Amino acid sequence: MLSSMKNVTQVFKFGGASIKNADAIRNVGNILRKYKGHRLLVVVSALGKTTNALEKVVAAHASQSGESQALLHAIKQEHYDIARALLGDEHEIFALLNDTFVEIDWALEDPPHENYDYMYDQMVSVGELASSQIVHAFLNTLDLSTAWVDARDIICTDDIFREGWVQWDATIDRAKQWIPPLLDEGQFVITQGFIGSTTENFTTTLGREGSDYTAAIFSFCLDAQSMTIWKDVPGVLTGDPRLFKNVVKLDRLSYKEAIEMTYYGAKVIHPKTIKPLQNKSIPLFVKSFIDPEGTGTLITGDVEDTYPAIVAVERQQALLQIATRDFSFVAEHHMSYLFQMIADLRLQVNLMQNSAINFTICVNDIDDKILQFAARIDKDFIVIIDRGLELITIRHVTPEMNERLRRGKLVLLEERHRGTVQMVVKDVPIMERRTNAEMD
Ligand code: ADP
Ligand code: ASP
Ligand code: MG
Repeated sequence: MLSSMKNVTQVFKFGGASIKNADAIRNVGNILRKYKGHRLLVVVSALGKTTNALEKVVAAHASQSGESQALLHAIKQEHYDIARALLGDEHEIFALLNDTFVEIDWALEDPPHENYDYMYDQMVSVGELASSQIVHAFLNTLDLSTAWVDARDIICTDDIFREGWVQWDATIDRAKQWIPPLLDEGQFVITQGFIGSTTENFTTTLGREGSDYTAAIFSFCLDAQSMTIWKDVPGVLTGDPRLFKNVVKLDRLSYKEAIEMTYYGAKVIHPKTIKPLQNKSIPLFVKSFIDPEGTGTLITGDVEDTYPAIVAVERQQALLQIATRDFSFVAEHHMSYLFQMIADLRLQVNLMQNSAINFTICVNDIDDKILQFAARIDKDFIVIIDRGLELITIRHVTPEMNERLRRGKLVLLEERHRGTVQMVVKDVPIMERRTNAEMD
């Protein structure tokens, strides 16, 4: 088995939850020990919830609230504590981490950059750099010889900060040039998820939760035999276990099913992950780092389409009802103008419906994008905005599931297509009858 594995490359991705503290990182070490001698590239996210914490540092610096230093200090402390627990007090990791975090110190010494997204990428990327340095140092103490690669030297993107688009030709060339020689030497390779860099060497990020995507990019470039993402769940389930009871594991999924369910909010896999894998027929395993011997979920191209009902919920949705001011039809030339505005602001539209003079879209409500959108089109259109909504998608819907998910909800917009139902909902306040005593 081992000798046949030696010629093929596998890609693993460990997310924040799998490396949230020293014990979790030790567990990752135990998983990786079993792959000693394999050609393995490991992609890691930032530790635990570090990315959220770094986002707060950026926001504090931008608003000059005076809290940025204290927030950064807490993040550094957490990293040093974990490094100390794994590597002891005297280790070169501390100098390395200092050099990594100093990038943020310098950014905080300057006035906030006028381009928020640029500033965000320069600071938030430090999370992945620091976590990969710690995990790298730890693996080497386990006698798992591992090379650390800066993902920014491989993953080339355009300069859309916070949402870098991969420049595939350059990325493939660089991956093929730099990674195989390291694997040939018998080393594991560890690198960072989520980050890349422009041709001018500015750091970019690929969008929140983008480390799964990074692993898929490397899998594509290296023609990996398989990719595995290690999660805190047994595999892909029929719904998010944080939201629903009675969910069950799906043993097999097609790329098509996976891309649809993740696009509409099944947060277990970043939606962009599937395409590079599908394009090269690379199998994707979703496995549990808590139960590494479990079977997990296998995602490939050749799966028969017989699934139970699968539910995905996308939160932070807004519904925008756009009506022409002059009672002209919305369908004609207005449509291309509206789509241009949507593209300019990079609004993600999840559902749309149009009538004679109305065009209704359900979009992810991020930052103040929808307000900017409404302001831009205000001259010709009236926009009614409803925020704080959820988009519920049920694939392979059954009457029972359809009925259960509507309870206590007001459905504002609904669409049904073949076996898929999608509805934009808000909670309905429960109307409780007063007791007789209260009425007297
Ligand atoms: P990572 O540590 O790699 O960042 P995530 O937290 O992003 O992992 O993804 C794992 C989480 O995804 C699970 O803890 C679970 O709550 C959530 N999740 C949402 N939908 C599903 C689903 N259909 N199946 C499994 N997990 C899901
Ligand atoms: N650390 C990044 C995030 O939390 C990327 C990732 O974990 O996938 O969004
Ligand atoms: Mg995640």
